[in-house]
Amino acid sequence: MRILLVEDDLPLAEALQQSLQREGFVVNHVDCGQLALASLATPDHDMVILDLGLPDLDGTEVLKTLRTKKIQLPVVILTARDSIESKVQGLDLGADDYLAKPFEMPELLARLRVIERRLGTASSAIIEIAKRNVIPDHIKS
Ligand code: CA
Repeated sequence: MRILLVEDDLPLAEALQQSLQREGFVVNHVDCGQLALASLATPDHDMVILDLGLPDLDGTEVLKTLRTKKIQLPVVILTARDSIESKVQGLDLGADDYLAKPFEMPELLARLRVIERRLGTASSAIIEIAKRNVIPDHIKS
């Protein structure tokens, strides 16, 4: 599972990166919105952890742009903005989950595992369909 971590708080990014790697995730880190969009222009990641307070673009703009471009990558917002309005806005813009800082690492990891399970189910379903379509009839029987 490859994660793009978008976070401009470098000590936090480093701590997150270490914890995520210990869990077996491959992590790429960027520290601003433009770099996030550039990294997400190619399908190199399976999910995104997105901070909202970024130095250039707001994280909500990054999310909006992704969804406008029909990039349906799971996005988990991880931000200091903890108001209900901000949570509702983030989820309505297409985030899959929203966790406010300060957060506990076990909770973040558990939420990422939820997304991972969902992705796993979806991709094995696609593989099943693909198999059924490519195997010639004489081999199937
Ligand atoms: Ca920030």
